[in-house]
Amino acid sequence: MESRILIVGAGPVGQLAALLLARQGIASLLIDRREAAASAPKAHAVNPRTLEICDSVGVSAEALRAQGASANDAGFVRFVGTLSGPEFGVLPYERQDDEALAFTPFPLTNIPQPKFEAALSAAIAVEPLIEFRRGVNCVGVTHAPSHVIAELEHVASKEREHVTAAYVIAADGANSRLRQALGIAMDGPEGLQHNVMIHFEADLSALTDHQPGVLYFLFEPTTKGVLIAYDRAKTWVLMHPFDPALEDAASFDEPRCRQLITDALGVAVPDLNVRNIGPWVMSAQVAQTYRGGRVFLAGDAAHRFPPTGGLGLNTGVVDAQNLCWKLAAVLKGEAGEALLETYETERRPVALVNTEQSLANASKLFDLFATLYGPDPLKTDEHYAAIAANPKADAALALSVEMQRPHFDSFNLQLGYRYCSDAIDSAPALLKASDVDISRYEPGFEPGAHLPHRWVTKDGRRTSLLSLIPVDRYALITGPQGEAWVKAAQSLKLAGLRFNADFQDQSTTWEALTGLTGTGALLLRPDGHIAARLDTVGGDPLAHLRELMARLNALQTVEA
Ligand SMILES: Cc1cc2nc3c(=O)[nH]c(=O)nc-3n(C[C@H](O)[C@H](O)[C@H](O)COP(=O)(O)OP(=O)(O)OC[C@H]3O[C@@H](n4cnc5c(N)ncnc54)[C@H](O)[C@@H]3O)c2cc1C
Repeated sequence: MESRILIVGAGPVGQLAALLLARQGIASLLIDRREAAASAPKAHAVNPRTLEICDSVGVSAEALRAQGASANDAGFVRFVGTLSGPEFGVLPYERQDDEALAFTPFPLTNIPQPKFEAALSAAIAVEPLIEFRRGVNCVGVTHAPSHVIAELEHVASKEREHVTAAYVIAADGANSRLRQALGIAMDGPEGLQHNVMIHFEADLSALTDHQPGVLYFLFEPTTKGVLIAYDRAKTWVLMHPFDPALEDAASFDEPRCRQLITDALGVAVPDLNVRNIGPWVMSAQVAQTYRGGRVFLAGDAAHRFPPTGGLGLNTGVVDAQNLCWKLAAVLKGEAGEALLETYETERRPVALVNTEQSLANASKLFDLFATLYGPDPLKTDEHYAAIAANPKADAALALSVEMQRPHFDSFNLQLGYRYCSDAIDSAPALLKASDVDISRYEPGFEPGAHLPHRWVTKDGRRTSLLSLIPVDRYALITGPQGEAWVKAAQSLKLAGLRFNADFQDQSTTWEALTGLTGTGALLLRPDGHIAARLDTVGGDPLAHLRELMARLNALQTVEA
């Protein structure tokens, strides 16, 4: 039987999928049509959950954070005329401070996407279960009853070959060819805004040392867009919006882009090097279904968010995490095929909420334009100049800036998403997007939530509770008197961890923390989500656990 998985696309999502499968003992063929990794910096915000997932597969989150910009450098968002001023307001950029350590071992960091991807590639290079081929394009997929046949084309030679795979993960990006071939439509608006993305190098330290930041939103009427600082001394992107009805994307050649950069900086800089110019179209869309037969969409192939929220890469990585353990469980015979249906049930609602929020963030920025430009389109310049002369005096401006705060504080979206599906026992219904406070993360132990991070002691060493959870099997964390559950877990080859026995948490009691009795337990999936709360050991714990696992994993019977 074919057990290998084909992953089409080696962006961050495809690469992490390969590593996640390998940690489950599942082999994959990872292909990308590019001969070399992309150099465009694109994503910068890598959030705590993504870092936790990286760490769990052996890509050190601390090493990633060490490569990211420091919180002093990248801890702010600024609203400015041009980079030379004036400044209309400043907000903190996400939770990068030590307070976040109460909720995650790895606070958000700002690291350019190519550096992030290089760290994944380095881990893949030493992983024998992953065959990684670049310069290979997937041109088609055909379904057989028990496997998939993919047609691959070698980009350089144009030679074609067929490979078989048990399943395909389509991580082939926003314009996913596989999604289109499967006829999967997208819900939501397309082409909301056309941008030219100008990647350039310049040392802008002198312009920004007194006002460090990661995002600079530009409001001077003669310039438009946002400057992204990946490294203030070198790597920048100007996202410049344009109207395709009035301007041709091809008109943004190098001389024109140099001028746009100079306008955005408000001053000419001598060492400006334009590295790359490319169009980028903003949409707010989610695939109607995440599955076509044995092909599963993940990452940008499944959802296209406005960049206002920094959620694209981060959401895609969790897609991969959710999908990969399920595919592995089915291939290992530990779960029935129906478990795979829960991938869409669990991940699509998260994408819908994240799309809605990213769109709301983008819309709210228009309020700032309205404040700065005033109600009369013929008097924009005068209105702007009056406020720019003394921004601090304008109360409406301060309020408009303050209204942007949730855009840059989405801690709850990053960590607090929950699942409700047949793979979760008694999960509470999901909240409507409008009822979610995106900034306020309240760790909880209800079914469907991710196990909260806590600092605990294991073998005399301080560590995150999350680091004790295996990625390749279920685990039971039990109360101090949960010996019977641990024994049952071990009989079923699950990990078993008893509170204040296998690890120590001196700052609270199990009962206060989880609301369970000392003999209770939490059943955790390999992705760290709580599959069930088990309160009493009455009857036969082994039989109970076996029946529960069979049900959650869509199996009729589970062998002890
Ligand atoms: C300016 C900018 C800033 C951003 N900032 C953030 C941020 O701060 N945080 C965040 O989370 N996200 C951010 N994003 C979004 C983020 O870059 C994307 O969400 C992320 O790259 C998606 O990863 P992916 O692996 O799904 O797809 P991609 O990165 O697009 O990778 C897809 C890969 O598939 C390959 N491929 C496509 N078709 C085929 C085929 N037929 N055969 C073989 N290979 C194929 C491509 O060559 C490509 O390498 C930003 C995006 C932009 C443009």
